[in-house]
Amino acid sequence: MATWKLGDVQVTRIEEMIGEASYPPAEYFSEFDRAVLERHLGWLAPNHYIPARNMLITSVHSWLIRTPHHTILLDACAGNHKERQWWPRFHQLNTPFLERLAAAGARPEDVDVVMCTHLHADHIGWNTVLRDGRWVPTFPNAKYVLSRKECEFWDPRGKSPELAADPGRRVAFADSVLPVLEAGQAQLVDGTHAIDDGLIVEPAPGHTDGHVLLKLSGGVFCGDVIHHPLQICMPQWNSRFCVLPDQARATRRKVLEHCAESGALLFPTHFGAPHVAAIDASARGFSARFVAAAV
Ligand SMILES: [Zn+2]
Repeated sequence: MATWKLGDVQVTRIEEMIGEASYPPAEYFSEFDRAVLERHLGWLAPNHYIPARNMLITSVHSWLIRTPHHTILLDACAGNHKERQWWPRFHQLNTPFLERLAAAGARPEDVDVVMCTHLHADHIGWNTVLRDGRWVPTFPNAKYVLSRKECEFWDPRGKSPELAADPGRRVAFADSVLPVLEAGQAQLVDGTHAIDDGLIVEPAPGHTDGHVLLKLSGGVFCGDVIHHPLQICMPQWNSRFCVLPDQARATRRKVLEHCAESGALLFPTHFGAPHVAAIDASARGFSARFVAAAV
């Protein structure tokens, strides 16, 4: 189990899966340039890119953040038993995610905060589990911190009627977000929000309009602001999943600047091993200095 220490906070990576991304690089990045990939091959292979297969490596994991006051699960992967025909990598999974969480020392009832950086299907799955044929919140004692803007966008009952016609989105919201809302466990946040003094939720729009991130002393949990480490060198490159391209670039640059200036480590949701990076800035741009787990 990989754990990083930030002062008196412990951060443990809980893996759901790691492997090839669903798309080759030229389809994954909207501004892809093969010459750039070739230039960075020395550090990208084999943990972040497999040259022989021309495939990027992406991880899907949660961050278990233990502070003196809270046990937080940040981002909830894809989950088990979910109907995701439209995204084969995540269709009807059956992974030992909760066993891995237990091995890290956290039972579902120990988690008091679940936070989703956004509501794409690979960030909400473990919000719920299937029990007696019904989707129920996995973490009975947790409040689920969700961006209100994000929730309103994805809720097919709400402001985006075009989503109601998208069966995939409708299903994901219905099985992984709606049960949390109905259980009264959601805390919808607007703008900047303090979970407590040291844990700050901030808007980070671009990948989705309502995307948020979590900052604490020494770390930034950036969700999908940065999908793949190549975007540290190429912050102008968006993934195919970023819905507001210009804002996504601006937010990515802002997060990288913050990390470079403050020394905060970057904890994204999809980086391959060792999953965490410090950010250096120079006249040539940003670069990643990977930071292995302390334990
Ligand atoms: Zn994602």
